[in-house]
Parts: sequence; structure tokens; C-alpha cells
Amino acid sequence: MKNIGILAIQGDFKEHAAIVRRCGANTLEIKTTYDLDSINGLIIPGGESTTIGKLLEKSGVGEKIVELYGEGLPIYGTCAGAIMLAKKIIGHNQYKLKLMDISVKRNAYGRQAESFEKEIYINVLGNDPYRCIFIRAPVVESASKDVEVLARENSNIIMARQDNLLITTFHPELTDDLRIHEYFLDNI
Ligand code: GLN
Repeated sequence: MKNIGILAIQGDFKEHAAIVRRCGANTLEIKTTYDLDSINGLIIPGGESTTIGKLLEKSGVGEKIVELYGEGLPIYGTCAGAIMLAKKIIGHNQYKLKLMDISVKRNAYGRQAESFEKEIYINVLGNDPYRCIFIRAPVVESASKDVEVLARENSNIIMARQDNLLITTFHPELTDDLRIHEYFLDNI
């Protein structure tokens, strides 16, 4: 059985863990570098990217994640988690893991009140649309040719992968639909 680590520093990690378990994998809350030792995949949840980044830096967990990614660890970041994975955060000089060849703009859809939901067709998930929930979501402003775009909302990239990295700018852990987590688990 796969062991999936869920970064449990801040944000909606409990919701991610519940979905991953429904997909049939074990979950492990990641708070320290030691917790990272026996996982087959890692999820970085949404939350507040500045807070998550500070704690990743201070605890050394960030550095170890980068090291493990180099050894092949698959990582999925949602919203603030996607921001953490980006190589560039436009206009913010904050800690990040700098793994994925994307530039992101935080809160690009506006404030909390501009959070929204939308049914979107995502090819890799099959024929039924997916209810995407955007909460103060970032926008991926640019992506290198190594990044495979999996879904867009209007013209904005909302789901993408590169090697063992997956990002969504929306929150699948807040739905009942297992397909995004299944996609991550199937691809690792
Ligand atoms: N706006 C948050 C940030 O920039 C991300 C929001 C989220 O993860 N839902 O960190």
C-alpha cells in the first residue's frame, strides 16, 4: 500500500488525508524532516503560502523535500502548495521550493469574495466535468515547454504536471470527487 505524506504545517491537510484514504492509500501527517522518511508521495495543501514557506524553511522540511524530489519523490501541490512548487512568484520574495518551471501570481482572481466554483472538463479525468473550487487562487502566468498543461479555466492554466510534479490552482479536497487524487496516486 502506498504511503502518502500530507504536509501538515497549515491549511486543509485533514481534508486531503481523508480523500487519499478513500482512494485506498495510507496517509502520514508531515511536520518534521523525520516524517518524510517513508513516504511514496507528498501533498502540499492550500493555505497561506507565506506561512507555509516560513515553516518549511525554519524546520528544514523544505530542504529535505527538494532533496527527496531529486531522488524521485512525486509531489502534488494545491493552490498555496502550487505556489510553493513554483520557480517564480511574481512580485513576492518569499520562500519557495523552486521545483516547477512556472511563474505564478498570487491572489490573481481577487480577494476572498471573488472565490468561485466552476465545472470544467479535464481530459485526463474522463468525460464528466470536475467541480473546481477556487479560493484566492493563484494564476500561472507562464510555464516552460517542459510543463504539460492538463486544464485551463478561460486561458489560465489550472492543472499541470512536470515530471513527478502535479499542481492544481483549485481545491479538490473540498469536493467529494476522488478523480484528481486518484490521478496523482495512479501516476506515482
Ligand atoms: N492566497 C493564498 C496564498 O497566496 C493561497 C490560497 C489557497 O491556498 N487557497 O498563499
